[in-house]
Amino acid sequence: MGAYLSVPAWWRNLDGRYRLVVGECQECGGYTFPAEGACVECNAIDALTPTEPEGTGTVVAQTIIESGAPPEFTTLLDAEGAIGVVLVELDEGVRVPGMLTDCDPHDIGRGDRVTAVVRRIYEQEGITRYGTKFRPD
Ligand SMILES: [Zn+2]
Repeated sequence: MGAYLSVPAWWRNLDGRYRLVVGECQECGGYTFPAEGACVECNAIDALTPTEPEGTGTVVAQTIIESGAPPEFTTLLDAEGAIGVVLVELDEGVRVPGMLTDCDPHDIGRGDRVTAVVRRIYEQEGITRYGTKFRPD
């Protein structure tokens, strides 16, 4: 699996996830994200059971967004100046995208250890959306 994700793909995958959930394959024990469709390890269909991983992993790719975010993120961008988005390879071996938190995103890079935490993502139409972010260990 390549490390590259387009910016729209980052945002799509970040939206509205309260907990970090991956799919555990009942056929081979491998993990797939998102937890739907076929197992990325063995291609088994409908064998994924949603499960919460430990949430610890290593940054394998990173991008910093300083402008051009979708409208629901502009308040966050104005407040924080820059949003760090990372692709993290969890210790279970599956890769998931998430925003960085509790750090200057410029200080984080490939190979850094991070832990998933649930944080406020943005507010839209009066509803606060939460999702998984990653903070440095
Ligand atoms: Zn499998």
